[in-house]
Amino acid sequence: MEPRHRIGRWGWRGALALGAALLLNAPVEAQRRFTTAHRCSASQQARGCLVVLGSGVPVPDPSRMGPAYAVVYGDRTFLFDAGAGVMRRAAEAGLAIDGFTHVFLTHLHTDHTLGLPDVIFTSWVMGRRRAMALTGPPGTARLVEHVQVAWSEDIRVRTDGLERGQPGGERVVVHETDGGVVYDSAGVRIRAVRVPHGEWKTAFGYVIELPERRIVLSGDTRASAELEAAARHADVLVHETYPLVRLKPEDRPGGDAWPAYMRSVHTSDEEVGALAERSRVRLVVLSHVVWMGGTDAELEAGVRRGGYRGPIRVARDLEVY
Ligand SMILES: [Zn+2]
Ligand SMILES: [Zn+2]
Repeated sequence: MEPRHRIGRWGWRGALALGAALLLNAPVEAQRRFTTAHRCSASQQARGCLVVLGSGVPVPDPSRMGPAYAVVYGDRTFLFDAGAGVMRRAAEAGLAIDGFTHVFLTHLHTDHTLGLPDVIFTSWVMGRRRAMALTGPPGTARLVEHVQVAWSEDIRVRTDGLERGQPGGERVVVHETDGGVVYDSAGVRIRAVRVPHGEWKTAFGYVIELPERRIVLSGDTRASAELEAAARHADVLVHETYPLVRLKPEDRPGGDAWPAYMRSVHTSDEEVGALAERSRVRLVVLSHVVWMGGTDAELEAGVRRGGYRGPIRVARDLEVY
């Protein structure tokens, strides 16, 4: 047998390619787990731990990534929304970057979904082999299909080329829902609550019920009676908001409609204060704030004017609740 046959069907060129692929894959392997300590302590993970991955809005503030929250319970990590920068923050928080247990979207506004291709493809490149579970409103499947088509050449190159990407690891199993229980397994029950958000036909807040904690995420919404009912006695209510004292017409074409827009699409600090007090929420975390030049102190004063007497926090990225 000629020497070139001893290395099997690959041939010399194939053997060199395989060697190069192994070398190229080595740093990927090393990066799969970052040494960053997990933001949640072991006892927090055991009870259920909320990590703010992105507290921002569409404004590209470098200190605030687009909206994204992780809830860690034991060895499971659930992601809610996928704003820009989500995977960098997930790595910074010490979360596993090769796949979340389940991903949920509140609605399909770009600020909540710009990081979805990042979640899908980065987790794959970092080692995910199983299809990613994703739950969202109607339209989520179409969004994912188009993302997969948009990056189809990348998928082909990574799978067929020297990177030797795991075929199929980029897949997503989409569950579209109109609301209700969307996850119920081994002590974790997650409910999508329909909320009113401008022209969107379907938008959700999420209620995460754990044996020892209830965490409620408002998503984007104007003051919602359904969400208020769902937040009753919640341990943590993360609510979007804006400082009412700053709301005025804006100096731009169409800017006179700004106050009416904000009132119909989002929830003021005073409205958050009123509904949180009625719901007897144990902790209010203000996030996804349309600041309009406002301050933490103004927001907190607004929530107090609304009537809430419990503790208030203004979220920063990578905080844990
Ligand atoms: Zn929105
Ligand atoms: Zn938003």
